[in-house]
Amino acid sequence: MFKKMALIGIGLIGSSIALAARAHNLVEGIAISTRRPETLEEARALGLGDSYTLDPAEAVRGADLVILCTPVGAYEGVMRQIAGALAPGAILSDVGSVKGFVQKTVGPHVPKGVAFIPAHPIAGTEHSGPGAGFPELFIGRWCVLTPEKDIDPIALDRLTSFWQALGSNVEVMEASHHDMVLAITSHVPHLIAYNIVGTADDLEAHTKSEVIKFSASGFRDFTRIAASDPVMWRDVFLTNREAVLEMLGRFLEDLSQLQRMVRVGDGAGMEALFTRTRAIRRSIISAGQETAAPDFGRGRATDAAAHGAEAPAAPVREHGGGDDA
Ligand code: NAP
Repeated sequence: MFKKMALIGIGLIGSSIALAARAHNLVEGIAISTRRPETLEEARALGLGDSYTLDPAEAVRGADLVILCTPVGAYEGVMRQIAGALAPGAILSDVGSVKGFVQKTVGPHVPKGVAFIPAHPIAGTEHSGPGAGFPELFIGRWCVLTPEKDIDPIALDRLTSFWQALGSNVEVMEASHHDMVLAITSHVPHLIAYNIVGTADDLEAHTKSEVIKFSASGFRDFTRIAASDPVMWRDVFLTNREAVLEMLGRFLEDLSQLQRMVRVGDGAGMEALFTRTRAIRRSIISAGQETAAPDFGRGRATDAAAHGAEAPAAPVREHGGGDDA
């Protein structure tokens, strides 16, 4: 249990943490700070916290848990404002989708006596803002922690227990490993989605009405991912450049091979690849990270029931638009 949790940034992830921490009695008080007065007023109207301020230093004063929930590009500026107000013994964490950059940017500002434990809840939707949050967002999802090796084990245990209480499975790994894994499972897929939807839009003169009218599930899923927050995703690609370029290079090599299979009519090669990838999809479902319900489990519960499909375990909310973000 924490006495005071300060959330800096109160969008989808910050508001979900506030709602879930309150629901599970993990904090006595919640201080909320954000950049724009409109967002602060929205958070207040939703009753997400106990105190509200546009001054992040005021929010973190006396807090034993501080979580940065802004896009990662804002961290440096936020740290300059809050470093002097962080209480000795506090845990400082974040939810950013990249971790090497966060360690490099935030690390030098962390005062002695404050335990800095970067975190990334691999859970999200393509929706933004304080009204987008819901307390079940983290249930059954991974939360990756990337502390330095000399981290205080008690602080690490406390933050691990916090995320577990929100419903997450917690894994500790090095920041560079996190960034490589997320580049291929999340960042490159988002880049592909942004690209394919952009390409379709460029064909607008000939096909726009057809694209929307005949939008098949594959394209529709790409549009959902491509609707993810532009600022957050801009920051992901600006701050995880090396890992993204490495994975994109591998992807393009494999795409060329696939292009060749199509050109030469290598049916056996394609079938072998598609069989392998189908098995991966099934293993993700068995691992509980996706459901086999129609529409990838993203339809309404009634749709799932009508099709007699496996019902999603968690309340039916969209997951994954930015997860991984
Ligand atoms: P969001 O809904 O867009 O909310 C962002 C919040 O940050 C808003 O309160 C915004 O405040 C504030 N903010 C933006 N720029 C700021 C600045 N320069 N200074 C101070 N505050 C600023 O974003 P989100 O989806 O919750 O994402 C937040 C973090 O979670 C990101 O680092 C992202 O990488 C990570 N993440 C996101 C997902 C996802 O699916 N969305 C999943 C996992 C992790 P104002 O409205 O007042 O400007």
